[in-house]
Amino acid sequence: MSTRETDSETADVLIVGGGVAGLTAATFTARAGLDTIVVDTDESILARNAHLENVPGFPGGINSRRFLDLLAEQADESGARRETGRVTDVERSDDGADAFDVRAVGDGAVGDSDETRVFRTDAVVAASWSDASYLDGLGVETRDAGSKTYVVVDELGRTDVEGVYAAGRLTEKYHQAVVAAGHGAEVGLTVVHDSEVPYYHDWVTPEGYFTDRGREVPPGCEEIDAEERERRDAASRERTREAFDGPHPEPQRTHPSLVDDELGRLDE
Ligand SMILES: Cc1cc2nc3c(=O)[nH]c(=O)nc-3n(C[C@H](O)[C@H](O)[C@H](O)COP(=O)(O)OP(=O)(O)OC[C@H]3O[C@@H](n4cnc5c(N)ncnc54)[C@H](O)[C@@H]3O)c2cc1C
Repeated sequence: MSTRETDSETADVLIVGGGVAGLTAATFTARAGLDTIVVDTDESILARNAHLENVPGFPGGINSRRFLDLLAEQADESGARRETGRVTDVERSDDGADAFDVRAVGDGAVGDSDETRVFRTDAVVAASWSDASYLDGLGVETRDAGSKTYVVVDELGRTDVEGVYAAGRLTEKYHQAVVAAGHGAEVGLTVVHDSEVPYYHDWVTPEGYFTDRGREVPPGCEEIDAEERERRDAASRERTREAFDGPHPEPQRTHPSLVDDELGRLDE
């Protein structure tokens, strides 16, 4: 097997893991204008859920694979780039730049590629339940509990290594989707606040909300007029209809140890 290494791609922030926390973090960093890459192996543990009934906004519940698809679509819509691959290693750039080099490989579960891709990034967010091994070389503080390793973070998601953050279940947050999403948002915003990007809040408001009170529209916020509001409302209704039009095409997943499939897909 070849070990070809490609030239590095650059980003302001690289998020390891495109599950609930990682995709939500990406939505916030990308919306704030940070060039964001998500590298993921498509193994969100939420895909094993049989019907998601406790995520706010879905009183009838939602298919968990559909929920993950919608999070991914939203990250794309916000401008994040998503790549398939398993992150194996993160190290400080050796050319004196205040950045990290992130290595990712394809493997059996995530495609046929055997090339190693290198990403150069100013910030790393580990949202990769349940793998934090790629942080070993940086000496990020972790906590072992049985077979699991958790990344230790402060109350805003910063690890003890500057520029490295962690989000979701990997940080020992409660094992619930909404908690992972909320933490992903919070950690994404911490990355934004630690960057050079001017920022207030990520808000969309009616026209005049700030300006009619003699204020500039703060950075990160947007005022929209009635016509634009109606256009967005119509587009969102149409999109939501399309997204829920029929059963989700992917099979239910279960624990991979129970079936002969690396992603735990049930043959129903
Ligand atoms: C059977 C089951 C049912 C559940 N039901 C519910 C429920 O009903 N309601 C609820 O709220 N919660 C439920 N959960 C819990 C919920 O799924 C998790 O709490 C949530 O998914 C955690 O989000 P996360 O982003 O931290 O991790 P995940 O969603 O698992 O995302 C982690 C991502 O990191 C990727 N990854 C891992 N290692 C690497 C690497 N080295 N490189 C690149 N990518 C990597 C994975 O592919 C994955 O996409 C359930 C969990 C299970 C197992």
